[in-house]
Amino acid sequence: MRLYNTLTRKKEDFVPLEENKVKMYVCGPTVYDYIHIGNARPYVIFDTIRRYMEYKGYEVNYVQNFTDVDDKIIKRANEENVSAKDIADRFVKEAIKDAEGLNVEAATKNPRVTEEMPHIIEMIQTLVQKGFAYEVNGTVYFDTKSFKDYGKLSGKNIDDLEAGARIEVDKEKKSPVDFVLWKPFKPGEPKWDSPWGEGRPGWHIECSVMAKIYLGDTIDIHAGGEDLIFPHHENEIAQSEAANGKPFSKYWLHNGFINVDNEKMSKSKGNFFTLREIAKVIPYDVIRFFILNGHYRSPINFSRDLMEAAGNGLDRIKNCVKDLSFITLNGKDGDITQDEKNLIDEAVKFKNKFEESMDDDFNTADAVSSIFDFVKFANKNVTESSTKLFAESILSKIVELCRILGVEPLKENKDSEAEEIEALIAERQEARKNKDWAAADKIRDELAERGIVIEDTSAGVRWSRK
Ligand code: AMP
Ligand code: ZN
Repeated sequence: MRLYNTLTRKKEDFVPLEENKVKMYVCGPTVYDYIHIGNARPYVIFDTIRRYMEYKGYEVNYVQNFTDVDDKIIKRANEENVSAKDIADRFVKEAIKDAEGLNVEAATKNPRVTEEMPHIIEMIQTLVQKGFAYEVNGTVYFDTKSFKDYGKLSGKNIDDLEAGARIEVDKEKKSPVDFVLWKPFKPGEPKWDSPWGEGRPGWHIECSVMAKIYLGDTIDIHAGGEDLIFPHHENEIAQSEAANGKPFSKYWLHNGFINVDNEKMSKSKGNFFTLREIAKVIPYDVIRFFILNGHYRSPINFSRDLMEAAGNGLDRIKNCVKDLSFITLNGKDGDITQDEKNLIDEAVKFKNKFEESMDDDFNTADAVSSIFDFVKFANKNVTESSTKLFAESILSKIVELCRILGVEPLKENKDSEAEEIEALIAERQEARKNKDWAAADKIRDELAERGIVIEDTSAGVRWSRK
């Protein structure tokens, strides 16, 4: 398995720190609103990487935080006249609902900043004691110049950063590049006691602390969107390596943006769609499939057309799986024939190709193509004269590949229309049984008008959308 490591800027073989185990940390959302489609990308991508690693036999310890102390949470709490905790609790729940909708496996642990305060304070103390941080008037800053590797992830250098910094309004800092570890209390904000007075932590420290507590000083994979490379991940490396005296993460993975009109989708730009509003018109599994249709490091454009195309692609897989399921029930009894055995052997190539793509920096776009090729092969070779066992074998292989991507092709998006159609078909069957041909034909015509094709086969009725 090879993956692109942002830290070394090249594709590397994946060698875990501990045999068969993966310690993986993914930066999670700030919970002040529903997550948007852009936020859904890291959810889906890193979940897929995790699933693939599990498929390969690794035990993955997967930690993703919720940032539940933040200016935006406090602002919303004040606007709604509730506590910051109320806002955070509400949107943690909603984010989990969305993640479940996207079929994201539950994390091993979802730590929250407010629940880790003693550990956060402890790490800041260590940084102060070791001379990597200093306090001025209740604010603790990380002294970036004291950490010689500062800039190694983003490729930036402190002198350039200093030269590029605006004339510093904040005279407290030794360097404009220094960043906040702890800030003093302001009225109307949540606060905790600390050796530097009442206050709350800066943003970056939480991930260094949570990774250490739940995974250890050195982890295998740290991941997030590419906007986090600088400053967030750069600062995490500085904090963790300065405090622990050990390398922080062996591999750094970053997903590209979801763009709208070639601009990053973000709340601050106002060009965002919440996942919840989109999911009202496009099923969650189509959204997941849309995200998987691109390579995770490439930007993807959000558009209705592309979503529809993803939906059509997923339908192709679902229709195939539906046909195969039908044959597993209605095909021939008895042993698999020699020809079928040969076809099963031949079908190994789809799985091999799928794995090759995933082994090459998780190329889900190519992996999806292998599934489409497999579907074509199944449509051609599994017919009503096939044995049940052959259909079962091909079906289980297609479903297995889909599941690695977190796609459940057997799960029908039984919208209300599908239920209605099946009820009508049952009614028609009843009419035919009673030899009421006029009634049966009437239902058939009604369905045809709605674009539903029904097929009477020796083994029962099948329907599809035109
Ligand atoms: P935030 O809540 O903004 O901190 O973002 C949570 C996660 O979503 C981070 O990993 C971000 O990098 C990622 N993210 C935010 N916007 C986008 C976007 N438009 N496309 C892809 N990832 C994004
Ligand atoms: Zn983080």
